[in-house]
Amino acid sequence: MTRRRWIADTWSPETGHPTHATLTGEQAQHLARVLRAQPGQIFDVVANGFLHRAEISAISLSEVSFTLHEELEVDAALPIHLLLAVFKFDHFEWAIEKATELGVARITPILARRTEKHLAQVAQKRAERWRRIALEAAKQSRRTDVPEIAEPVKLDAALKAETAPLRILLSEVEQSVSLTSALAHSNQQPTTNNEHLALAIGPEGGWTPEEIALFTQHQWTHVTLGPRILRAETATIAALAIAAAHLEP
Ligand code: SAH
Repeated sequence: MTRRRWIADTWSPETGHPTHATLTGEQAQHLARVLRAQPGQIFDVVANGFLHRAEISAISLSEVSFTLHEELEVDAALPIHLLLAVFKFDHFEWAIEKATELGVARITPILARRTEKHLAQVAQKRAERWRRIALEAAKQSRRTDVPEIAEPVKLDAALKAETAPLRILLSEVEQSVSLTSALAHSNQQPTTNNEHLALAIGPEGGWTPEEIALFTQHQWTHVTLGPRILRAETATIAALAIAAAHLEP
């Protein structure tokens, strides 16, 4: 079983490889009050993206200090970039949380044509909150890394910038090619490169025909998840679970 990982709130030195780390807030409280941790006890701590065996050097209800010992191997994220059209914020936040639990490496919020106007206008400001949600979900799911939540962008910019060798559009109008078969027949060897697969999921209103054409122009494979129309957040979870089964056999 994976030991519980703690993601440090601060560390030093601040850049490069840290030697000391601290947990504050709820994590410190949990260690001190619930687990009754003591100086000298050993935990696994992630600081600045590095995972270490770590020894408690001092503990209070508000702060736990660690001396970092040997470095441990981190588990790679699923090498998936999720292009997630912005939809109703409560559902969108839920999708970010679940995608993080499932191991996604990066999420780019997409301002799609059918993303509601008022959501598109405030999406930029919401990105910080989405990053906090991803951080919490990463901690909760014992990830050693936190998925990157990029700045929201328009679809054409995102498609121009995409470098993943395997690019798959989840399309509610595609009828024949399934995600499973697209992954099985891809001649791209799975790699641990975090840009191996890009997956795009549309907003509540779906993709417009122009957007679907734009994906074709950029050589994305269009796939279906079956005959039922799923909510975007359901499609996100289903697609990531299927992709994970292919990439982490
Ligand atoms: N309002 C649209 C559905 C949008 S569903 C309609 O009624 O047709 C939101 C997004 O989830 C879609 O753009 C697509 O990316 C994904 N999705 C939902 N169901 C899907 C399915 N059966 N196959 C593939 N993608 C699906």
